[in-house]
Amino acid sequence: MSTPDDRLDVIAIAPHPDDLEITCGGTLAKLVRQGYRVGILDLTNGEPTPRGTPEIRQAEAEAARVALGVPVRINLGLPNRVLMDCPEHRFAIATILRRFRPNVIIGIAGRTPAASPDHHQAHLLIEASRFYSQLTKWDDRFAGTAPYRVPFLVYAPFPFDAEVRHWHGTFVIDISDTFDLKMRAIACYHSQFDEKPLERIGHVVGGNNIAQGGRCGFAYGEMFAMPHPVGASDLMSLVCGAKAATGAPVPLPGQPPPPME
Ligand SMILES: [Zn+2]
Repeated sequence: MSTPDDRLDVIAIAPHPDDLEITCGGTLAKLVRQGYRVGILDLTNGEPTPRGTPEIRQAEAEAARVALGVPVRINLGLPNRVLMDCPEHRFAIATILRRFRPNVIIGIAGRTPAASPDHHQAHLLIEASRFYSQLTKWDDRFAGTAPYRVPFLVYAPFPFDAEVRHWHGTFVIDISDTFDLKMRAIACYHSQFDEKPLERIGHVVGGNNIAQGGRCGFAYGEMFAMPHPVGASDLMSLVCGAKAATGAPVPLPGQPPPPME
């Protein structure tokens, strides 16, 4: 059963240890720095892989958790490689949501034909589990936890999604001050990324974060999406979160250039 201490502001969910570090590690580290209580839910242990073992992956995930400063990391122990959107897996994830009662889910999103099909299944599972977590009269399927409705769902899209998605709302978080922590966390996964692959993933992830951040005038950024338009009560704080409207601003005569960190 839950206790008041279990409550999280944000729970980030992905099928494999390292998915969240790659897609939104900078934002998770930043949320922690900003004082929010953040948890990571890995659906599987990511094994088997050619050079990993369950013990190695657990140690790597723990080192990455420490690098990001995230206080809570749970592995749900669902099956890797054959992860499927099915009722039992929805019950298991919804039980975690009912226990930790987060305000926001950050969920992995996208269909990755050149990578694991678990990613797409996790996307489906996260949406379904969020719905299931609020259901009444089924407490026995959720380990006796009480129904809980998670107010907000945010997608952390894979940068190599097969789909061109017309999201209702997207936004970019400035991770210029936590990008180094993100890369340090990714480097914890030695069994997945040794020297050459780490260089390659750093190149791809860094380039992606530079491109996404650059759209909003940040040195590095992570793009997120929502299943509905982004709402705000204050137009100025929403719009002025970005530093510049253009990626390569031209200084005007007599005026300093727009800031770019
Ligand atoms: Zn993955």
